[in-house]
Amino acid sequence: MTPDPNAIAETKPVAPEVRSVRPEGAMVDVMGGDLRREIKVLDHGLVALVDAMPRLVPEGQTADQAIVQAARVSYGAGTKRVNEDRGLIRYLLRHRHTTPFEMVEFKFHCAMPIFVARQWIRHRTANVNEYSGRYSIMPDRFYRPSAENVRQQSSSNRQGGEEQADQSTADRFLALLERTERMHAEYLELTEKGLARELARIPLPQSLYTEWYWKIDLHNLLHFLSLRLDPHAQMEIRVYAQAMLDLIEPIVPVTVEAFRDYRSGAVALTRLEVEAMRSGKAELDTENKREQAEWREKREKLGLA
Ligand SMILES: Cc1cc2nc3c(=O)[nH]c(=O)nc-3n(C[C@H](O)[C@H](O)[C@H](O)COP(=O)(O)OP(=O)(O)OC[C@H]3O[C@@H](n4cnc5c(N)ncnc54)[C@H](O)[C@@H]3O)c2cc1C
Repeated sequence: MTPDPNAIAETKPVAPEVRSVRPEGAMVDVMGGDLRREIKVLDHGLVALVDAMPRLVPEGQTADQAIVQAARVSYGAGTKRVNEDRGLIRYLLRHRHTTPFEMVEFKFHCAMPIFVARQWIRHRTANVNEYSGRYSIMPDRFYRPSAENVRQQSSSNRQGGEEQADQSTADRFLALLERTERMHAEYLELTEKGLARELARIPLPQSLYTEWYWKIDLHNLLHFLSLRLDPHAQMEIRVYAQAMLDLIEPIVPVTVEAFRDYRSGAVALTRLEVEAMRSGKAELDTENKREQAEWREKREKLGLA
């Protein structure tokens, strides 16, 4: 019989040759053997660090070494002689050479009020898996700000609150929150009567707590932190950002130090601000009141006001 010219010859699978490399010295867990490290936030919230990559590092090192290892691929092995690891990380952060920071990852378990989750979810570079009110009953945990955190609308910042609200306004607001919380009992009753959980949850207020697993690389986490630690971010999300920074600091201490030095503690100047500084003017050369206010804030930070 003539062989079919289109037939594909059968090949036997060949097992690939795998070369394993073992560490020369001992490896240590960057989380010190802990399953999770948790910080309580607000009245019922939490941020728990549940995993990190790299999880194991050579003894005496931190997860910062994964950043250095990646950076040396582009800068070459000779870099080690020129730069110490700390210097290299600080250089990378200052010059926004960001990809080496993506080699480190963190996985968090977080519980936060829904209005905080709405701000948080805007950070699209994380991987998220949230508690589902379609499958499960939403637990009756609600955020109620403490008296000093019932804030008056800020007069200078349209988005924010600042000083404490007066007593009667605060009392009315807290009473209103309490009334919305009472909806939970009716929500439970309706689900017990068979109403679909996906519908029954609709009236529940934004103060209700939700929770999620949130995984992100260090570069994008630093971006999140620089936006959400900023005093212009709402206090109720700032406290979560601070808890995350506290949790990662022992794991990537050199990066966190550089982040404080070059990002969160830095002041960026616009061209108009540089010109005002050069000419020693207190006012900016613009009619824009908002820009003038921002310049005043920066002058205070710089000790010029
Ligand atoms: C103080 C404050 C006030 C805010 N007020 C408002 C508001 O009033 N209304 C409102 O809607 N939002 C508001 N936001 C949310 C804000 O606009 C951003 O959506 C949020 O901060 C996430 O930032 P990001 O997109 O840089 O982060 P990520 O989503 O984590 O993205 C990180 C970076 O990746 C890149 N990237 C990600 N996705 C894309 C994409 N699809 N296309 C192009 N580049 C991408 C961008 O460079 C981006 O900076 C506010 C945020 C803050 C901090």
